[in-house]
Amino acid sequence: MSTSNQATKQEDEAKPLWRYVSKLRKTVIGGNFEIKCNICEVPFNGSYTRVRAHLLNFSGVGVRVCSKVTP
Ligand SMILES: [Zn+2]
Repeated sequence: MSTSNQATKQEDEAKPLWRYVSKLRKTVIGGNFEIKCNICEVPFNGSYTRVRAHLLNFSGVGVRVCSKVTP
């Protein structure tokens, strides 16, 4: 399983917003994660796309935006 571990590490390094959330665990379906925001402590399910939408206040992605993040 070393190959998949390396892939995950590279993916995390390429997506710096992961540092602002906690990945609680991987969900069974679709490679998403149970995620909790470290800033506002709101939990949600999803991928990095949703993390980014939450932290950067993107609308239309189906995740509530972070109420406490600052630009
Ligand atoms: Zn948040």
